[in-house]
Amino acid sequence: MPSPSRSIVGEHFPLTDEQQNLLSLAEQVGRESLAPRAARWDREASFPFENYHDMRAAGLLGLCVPKSHGGLGADYATYMMVSAELGRHCGATALTFNMHSCSMMWTGILADDLDMSDAQRAEHLRYREHHFERVVRDGAIYAQPFSEGSAAAAGKAPFGTTATKVAGGWRINGRKIFASLSGAANYYGVLCTEESAAPSMRDTLYIAVPGDAPGLTVTGEWDPLGMRGTVSRTLIFKDVFVADELQLMPRGVYYQAAGRWPHMFMTLAPTYMGIAQAAYDFTVQYLRGEAPGMGAPVKRRMYPTKQIAVAQMHIMLEQTRALFLRAIQDARIDPGKQARLRAYAAQYTIMENANALCQLAIRTCGGQSMLKTLPLERLYRDSRCGALMLPWTAELCLDRIGREALYEPGESDDSPA
Ligand SMILES: Cc1cc2nc3c(=O)[nH]c(=O)nc-3n(C[C@H](O)[C@H](O)[C@H](O)COP(=O)(O)OP(=O)(O)OC[C@H]3O[C@@H](n4cnc5c(N)ncnc54)[C@H](O)[C@@H]3O)c2cc1C
Repeated sequence: MPSPSRSIVGEHFPLTDEQQNLLSLAEQVGRESLAPRAARWDREASFPFENYHDMRAAGLLGLCVPKSHGGLGADYATYMMVSAELGRHCGATALTFNMHSCSMMWTGILADDLDMSDAQRAEHLRYREHHFERVVRDGAIYAQPFSEGSAAAAGKAPFGTTATKVAGGWRINGRKIFASLSGAANYYGVLCTEESAAPSMRDTLYIAVPGDAPGLTVTGEWDPLGMRGTVSRTLIFKDVFVADELQLMPRGVYYQAAGRWPHMFMTLAPTYMGIAQAAYDFTVQYLRGEAPGMGAPVKRRMYPTKQIAVAQMHIMLEQTRALFLRAIQDARIDPGKQARLRAYAAQYTIMENANALCQLAIRTCGGQSMLKTLPLERLYRDSRCGALMLPWTAELCLDRIGREALYEPGESDDSPA
């Protein structure tokens, strides 16, 4: 029996020894811990605490913490590949792991690329040392609740959640929806707008609110179609005091990051790259009559229609992977126009193709494959969520590609001919 692909990047993809080791670690944790429990979080819509326990024990919570601070020191491309590998085994865990890991990556290697004054840099280095220490020493989990149900998470308006400067810190007021890891995170890295007479996106503050801070409450139901283990409920902030040293970036720097490091918004995609791979692997196993969890195996590979469908899936998967692997190598500060457009194209392709592959998988395998005793129907539901995730929803990727392909910065058509 051929085992499902051993790695999300495929054979012979050039990897450093370190990347290879991290991918092997993710594959092992995924296969032994994440995959066997995935159905449970989905059924219960509960948070995968056990998975976090195992990922913590494996050192993975420090994946994007620099080595100088005791972490595994993954760079952007390495993180993206590891995240995709985890996504093969449990989409909901991979998606929440993304919120955690990006909190470290943005504060770490990404912030290193950004312009700061000497005073800001010194302050940032001092503050982030504590964030890294909380993760590496205490095993803390960070979340990234940005969405508010307004145009802010799409990057088109200032966040409605406000931060007012007070002695020694900030007073936060507002509300975040779809906060993955709600009730589970030790820190919520919120984006909020520094209070002023004329709120501006330039005044976005990125700050970690402790999960037990007085004035912070988690509310609302969580019973969604897919990605149920993310437990993305609503957070309410009512006069929550947060000390200065909990800033994840200095004032104004998040705005710079969003403009100059666009690949930071592509990090939700690898989860769905992993789901696409899992749907393909399942289909092959199923049609060969080898899918675990079947009473009587269903063997259908001899039918030409099945072979053609698998061929279509294979082509779609390889197209998706090729763009994924290319785009993660483009990532850097101030990428050129083509790299930026390719990032949107990669995000769009991964999110849409993951769902298309799951649809094809169900159509090809047939009715028995969508029973809840098998993983495919969960993959199908989880895959539906990818294209909805701001700021780079599938729609907004189209919007950006069309506009940025046709207009150079500063161009407009105020007086159309
Ligand atoms: C499983 C899951 C987990 C999530 N976890 C998190 C999380 O941890 N943190 C977080 O911040 N968010 C999270 N989200 C939220 C997600 O990023 C979106 O904010 C959310 O799905 C938006 O839903 P909405 O219907 O309110 O979007 P709306 O704002 O109503 O937008 C609906 C659609 O309209 C389009 N649109 C929106 N704004 C514009 C615009 N200005 N111009 C043109 N088109 C636009 C977009 O395509 C969008 O998909 C999560 C979502 C899901 C499904």
